[in-house]
Amino acid sequence: MRIYSALQELVQQGVNAGLIQPEDKIYARNQVLSHLGLDSFPAEVEGESEKEIPELLDELVEYAVSAKVIPDLFDKKEILASQIMNVFLARPSEVNREFYQRYENSPKEATEYFYQLSQKSNYIQIQRISKNIHYKADTAYGELDITINLSKPEKDPKQIALEKELKKTAAHYPECLLCVENEGYAGRIGHPARSNHRMIRVELANEDWYFQYSPYVYYNEHCILLSGEHRDMKIDRGGFVRLLEFVEQFPHYFIGSNADLPIVGGSILTHDHYQGGNYEFAMAKAEEEYGFTLQGFPEVHGATVKWPMSVIRLRSKNKTELVEAADFIFETWKSYRDPAVEIEAYTGETRHNTVTPIARMRDGYFELDLVLRNNRTTEEFPLGIFHPHADVHHIKKENIGLIEVMGLAVLPARLKTELIEVERFLLGKDHEIAGYHLPWAEEMKENYRSELTEANITEIVRKEVGQKFMRVLEDAGVFKRNEAGQEAFRRFTDLLART
Ligand SMILES: [Zn+2]
Repeated sequence: MRIYSALQELVQQGVNAGLIQPEDKIYARNQVLSHLGLDSFPAEVEGESEKEIPELLDELVEYAVSAKVIPDLFDKKEILASQIMNVFLARPSEVNREFYQRYENSPKEATEYFYQLSQKSNYIQIQRISKNIHYKADTAYGELDITINLSKPEKDPKQIALEKELKKTAAHYPECLLCVENEGYAGRIGHPARSNHRMIRVELANEDWYFQYSPYVYYNEHCILLSGEHRDMKIDRGGFVRLLEFVEQFPHYFIGSNADLPIVGGSILTHDHYQGGNYEFAMAKAEEEYGFTLQGFPEVHGATVKWPMSVIRLRSKNKTELVEAADFIFETWKSYRDPAVEIEAYTGETRHNTVTPIARMRDGYFELDLVLRNNRTTEEFPLGIFHPHADVHHIKKENIGLIEVMGLAVLPARLKTELIEVERFLLGKDHEIAGYHLPWAEEMKENYRSELTEANITEIVRKEVGQKFMRVLEDAGVFKRNEAGQEAFRRFTDLLART
């Protein structure tokens, strides 16, 4: 029967991938058998094939559905697939031991091992992620990264209804998606399957933190660091210390934190966490605009950055002084107001100013970028003054979090088909496009006219999406890239320099 061959092939691929040893084969086969509700195995079964682990896994899961071992529901299938892969994985303690053994050699060797493991274990589902559209778009600020996210599987209505029903009575365990209690958690309807998930223990500023990769991998080695404690995101001095300690331990990675206020923060504000990786974003490549010194911190070099958002870049070999300088700037910014450019620190008791910090090592120096943020809303801008404005919402209207700030747009799946419609519209082949794209499409038609051909249309639309994303970032900048904005930025850095 095919199911036995598929199982044997999976076991063999587990050996080939180095997940298990040849002497583990019978054990692994028996474990998977029981997950499939089977209690015997025929003697003559071949175990070699060209198929990859995810493909074989899909076969086993489809068998389980057809044999009524599990119901035909997305989450139930995920739970089974994750349990099957867990059979091939070492326990967390062993993974950590291996990681730190390699770390002795080099931090890079350790992260490479863990990144590979996270893919082989199917925790990072490369096959799904490879569906994403990714390209670079040239702008006045360098090459921005554009991703259309197509890897999130569509859930069917039956599953959504069940989730809604179960949410009413669901236990708060794990408390959230980023809690350490997800390690090895089977999952349930509405909560991801994490049997095959492992985390690396990292000590930051005398606290227990946990290192994992993002299952969505928006860029190379996209990792997440989460606090052992389930507590709110908070930007403070302690956070600056932890970010710098992390890049000291992993100098080939950058690490950043989302801001801690709604609108300008990320999607999860309820669990303290950072995101990093082995990737150089356009913002990191962006050059200094003008430098300044800070009176109280002689060993720290400060500069503004040529970037659509307002960035203060600090650089030093002295980590302690760098932390103190960052904390000083953050505290100054928290209560800073400049009505000439719409910056108000408070409405009543409600604070509006915060920062998105990003740390990296460069040429032996610690570098810390503080991106100034403000989340105030007005009647004219109910979603935020420093947030993408209405005319760019057809491309992006969600929060501008850490990843976007650095120059990577994560755009919704709907754009895949919509942008093809826009292309056809521009070529005069289609006359119906989504109304919200119409002003943009008309403008492109006007600007390009006869230049538009079948051969260059995709490239042109992609480039224009990049221009829109640049506008999105400019909207989120507190000091605008015009004379008034840059003078206001200068007033702020002058204040910093002389205090
Ligand atoms: Zn949590």
